[in-house]
Amino acid sequence: MLRWLQKLRGQPGRVAQRQIPDTLWQTTLQDFPFLQRHGAQSLETLRDLTRAFLGDKEFHGAGGLVITDAMAVAIAAQACLPVLGIAGPYRGLAWYDDFVGIVVHPGAVLATRETVDDDGVVHAWQEELSGEAMQDGPVTLSWEDVAGAGRTAGEGYNVVIHEFVHKLDMRDGAADGCPPLPAGFMGAATAARARAAWRATLNSGYLEFCDKLSMAERFGGAPVWLDAYAAESIDEFFAVASEAYFVNPERFARDFPALVAMFDALYGALTPAA
Ligand SMILES: [Zn+2]
Repeated sequence: MLRWLQKLRGQPGRVAQRQIPDTLWQTTLQDFPFLQRHGAQSLETLRDLTRAFLGDKEFHGAGGLVITDAMAVAIAAQACLPVLGIAGPYRGLAWYDDFVGIVVHPGAVLATRETVDDDGVVHAWQEELSGEAMQDGPVTLSWEDVAGAGRTAGEGYNVVIHEFVHKLDMRDGAADGCPPLPAGFMGAATAARARAAWRATLNSGYLEFCDKLSMAERFGGAPVWLDAYAAESIDEFFAVASEAYFVNPERFARDFPALVAMFDALYGALTPAA
């Protein structure tokens, strides 16, 4: 347990020299085949980023869960995928430097939610979460969901990418479906214009998804691809759509053609696998 990672963290000055062991890295690529969509050069960069991520972050197992090297590398590699080729005011792992902790639960996490209705009555209920990202705070993940990510890629589902895309979104303070963007993004003269264009495109994709979902649910229309949770809010739509973009890009391009160019511009042109 944690042998390689403990050594890595015990010798911070040597992080740069300590590569993720080959067998551990190869097992990660096999368990999460969508990582192998990227060419050799991108994969080497991903391996470097993953190692640096493991040097920066602290993993905590909840409910008695022991975090092994394999679990930490699996989470780190998937978390680094969105920042592998990203454009923007931050580079690489700087997108994630507002927090250190990653809390991993064995399964779904029960969160207590409360609302106060118009009569001032407090309603509390428990919500089952596969993960959660807090602004300037830790990321929480269900290991059961993380471990199944190879299998659920066809559905466009990936909890690690989902939560870390929320981190990108919140990097400028607001969970509004728009990460900080640089001036010049997709030809916009200023950062404000880049943001306005992003929001307009994402919002039309979001409204279209919500329409298709209600057609499917109320009127027996064709079922939607992607988790219905994406209809919850624009920031959830951004996170859910980004999951699909990374783990099942062919289907994503068929269902969300209007978003592809914009996501390509944000997440960067990665060298495809030969
Ligand atoms: Zn979410």
